[in-house]
Amino acid sequence: MSNIFAVANQKGGVGKTTTCVNLAASLVASKRRVLLIDLDPQGNATMGSGIDKSELQLSSYDVLASELPPNKAIVPTSSGYDLMPANGDLSAAEVELLEMDGREARLRRALRYLDGGHDYIVVDCPPSLNMLTVNALCAAHGVLIPMQCEYYALEGLSALVDTITQIQRAANPELRIEGILRTMYDPRNSLTNDVSEQLSEYFGERLYRTCIPRNVRLAEAPSFGVPALEYDRHSKGAIAYLALAGEMTRRHAANPSTTNSGPGQG
Ligand code: ADP
Ligand code: MG
Repeated sequence: MSNIFAVANQKGGVGKTTTCVNLAASLVASKRRVLLIDLDPQGNATMGSGIDKSELQLSSYDVLASELPPNKAIVPTSSGYDLMPANGDLSAAEVELLEMDGREARLRRALRYLDGGHDYIVVDCPPSLNMLTVNALCAAHGVLIPMQCEYYALEGLSALVDTITQIQRAANPELRIEGILRTMYDPRNSLTNDVSEQLSEYFGERLYRTCIPRNVRLAEAPSFGVPALEYDRHSKGAIAYLALAGEMTRRHAANPSTTNSGPGQG
């Protein structure tokens, strides 16, 4: 049974894609079978996984818009995880979906056609609470929210939490917050510490203990089309994402009900 989670935050540049690619590689390093779904028309997770978005035959667009069986669009990556890639075609889906029946559940229905060969399915969302993100949230068991510890980050978080609540009510009652991840973390900054404390008060256990530091290797690796683990496995960034994968899998082992049969597996 796959555990499906969406990596979402409507703010751009908070580390969603970096988290998807590096967490996917780190889960593979812990012997988990992983599928990364790129649901952002920018295709950054695709390029960051070493797949050229301008040369895709099939992509997540075809799965969402034309009901292509997902395994037809999935390709292997050099880092050991599978990828359902995306490119600019997907921005058409965002519009086309609005006209379709069951428009918010297209991804969820598509994932039922997978044979359960992945332990984890990670969905990289666009920087918006649009129909693509709604599809990810309807298909997922959990939402992983990366955020930078700055003042306005908390403001944006309440809009996302409201959206999650609405989706729980309307379409996916099992959806939970998988965890809040502090990214580009700088403990020397006092605002960081204040925001961090507020997050801890509000989200308690759901705030990951692992923080991802600001690390130039994480920013450089995508231009080589690999996760930091492959680019520089001793870098602070690569090590932090390994720690995150460890924290996540330990949580799931301690609480198997969070890795249940869920909406995506119907
Ligand atoms: P999003 O997907 O939320 O828009 P990205 O993951 O693309 O955000 O990150 C935005 C930019 O910040 C990218 O250039 C990325 O390489 C860089 N970045 C992300 N996380 C880190 C980090 N921990 N340290 C340094 N740079 C980072
Ligand atoms: Mg992104």
